[in-house]
Amino acid sequence: MNDKYDIIIIGSGLGGLLSGFILSKNGYNVCILEKNPQIGGTLQSFKRDGCVFDTGMHYIGSLNDGQILNRFFRYFNLLNNVKIRKLDEDGFDVINIDNKIFKYAMGYERFENKLISYFPNEKTAIKTYINKIREVADSEPMYNLRIPDLKNLNVNPYMRVNTHKYIESLTSNNELQNVLAALNYNYAGRSDNTPLYVHAFINNYYINSAYRFVDGSDQIARILASQIINNGGTILKNRKVKEFVFKGSKLIAIDDTTGNRYFANSFISNIHPAQTLGMIDPGRLRKVYRNRINSLENTVSAFSVYINLKENTFPYINSNYYYSKRNNVWSLDYYNERNWPENYFFYTPAFSTTNKYSRCVGVVTFMKYNEVKKWEDTSVEERGTEYIDWKRTKAEKLIALVTKQFPELEKNITGYYTSTPLTYRDYIGNGDGSIYGILRNCNNPLESVISPRSSISNLFFTGQNINLHGMLGVTISAVITAGEFVGLRNLIRSINNA
Ligand SMILES: Cc1cc2nc3c(=O)[nH]c(=O)nc-3n(C[C@H](O)[C@H](O)[C@H](O)COP(=O)(O)OP(=O)(O)OC[C@H]3O[C@@H](n4cnc5c(N)ncnc54)[C@H](O)[C@@H]3O)c2cc1C
Repeated sequence: MNDKYDIIIIGSGLGGLLSGFILSKNGYNVCILEKNPQIGGTLQSFKRDGCVFDTGMHYIGSLNDGQILNRFFRYFNLLNNVKIRKLDEDGFDVINIDNKIFKYAMGYERFENKLISYFPNEKTAIKTYINKIREVADSEPMYNLRIPDLKNLNVNPYMRVNTHKYIESLTSNNELQNVLAALNYNYAGRSDNTPLYVHAFINNYYINSAYRFVDGSDQIARILASQIINNGGTILKNRKVKEFVFKGSKLIAIDDTTGNRYFANSFISNIHPAQTLGMIDPGRLRKVYRNRINSLENTVSAFSVYINLKENTFPYINSNYYYSKRNNVWSLDYYNERNWPENYFFYTPAFSTTNKYSRCVGVVTFMKYNEVKKWEDTSVEERGTEYIDWKRTKAEKLIALVTKQFPELEKNITGYYTSTPLTYRDYIGNGDGSIYGILRNCNNPLESVISPRSSISNLFFTGQNINLHGMLGVTISAVITAGEFVGLRNLIRSINNA
């Protein structure tokens, strides 16, 4: 294959597709190469027995008129094309800590009033907390579509502030501390290292407004892909990129595993930077750079159960449900194989056809890659009965825990499917099934800042490992990466004018 493109993008995750959209819209001839038969990375949904399950995009935030994701979605022509449902304004996230229920209400006024109703003596702490997370969220130009200081992209003044310590400094009320940190599943938080900006960006994003996709998050991938193709771009599936090809010191092409070669002027990798560098002859990279990228710690992986239920037996719940067994929501600090699962995230996916009942339930909990390490050299079909039994035991444990809060669940199950850290590893292609990519660490913040420019002049990065994970974090990373080609200032102006 001798086609030559302006830009080749490796991976069709959200970051690859958004970068492809911006670049193709601006006249670049782009080609996206995806290893899987389906595009989208963790935007993918799958169908089982009448249910559509999302694999890694359960809810999104800040989509009300004028809010930040709404402005981005307008530019990407997603706003009027995606099917979404606003979650319950009185409690978009329901938190169960040690069997006591709290709700996160939507919009700051409601959020504050609701928290004060639970903790009437903690008004000052609650107000101080809210002011601080709004201040942190406002401090970042890209999260507000303001033109950033290009020299300090991805560098935030709150990178060194520890979330857990900050929350502890507000109040001695342990229950309130846990309620404020309860969404830490969304960033795989650890009390020793999660920076305040990560917590604040994500909590602020959802408190502003929270929505769920209707009929699957893969619609985002489909809508972006069809626009890229309309703009003249190419998307090729089942093409696993294997190696970068150089002519002298210049990167000129990439090879896939089936022997095809693709030429381009520039390359953007939407896959983990360490996996990307693994495809380059070591001699071409500065040792310090390679060592730094290879030594970065990733966030934890997950174990998910996707459950099918009998018709009309289980209610559709228009909220997410976060459960923590102990009065300590930082479960990554202490969970081990014996006491697993310590927490879970539970949701009923939304469908255009049903409102009252749900035939489908998804449950996700953290799981360390170590637990599946002994099967890491096997592929899906050959993991054997030991692995299948292990998965079943884990799924049953998780379902038993969920059943304690939702007793009507267990007797109405008609079947279930699971995904493990190996599933995430294989379908994202990131080496260890990490769900949110590179860990941001307040003790060593600059180490985890990855520039969209690599040490090879025409190779760039995009996706959750640059900037931050999630719909908003990855959107910003795609804008930053595409800004390297079209000019970030102009691009931000165009998004603001959309
Ligand atoms: C369990 C889970 C729950 C989540 N929940 C939410 C949520 O509720 N809300 C939210 O906003 N975010 C959520 N996220 C995070 C969000 O899904 C991710 O941050 C985001 O989708 C990552 O996008 P990305 O661009 O980095 O690409 P990825 O999704 O990582 O995709 C990378 C792509 O590259 C492809 N690829 C890899 N190697 C190669 C190769 N060699 N050649 C060609 N292609 C290759 C992969 O197949 C994949 O398609 C969740 C994630 C997980 C895992």
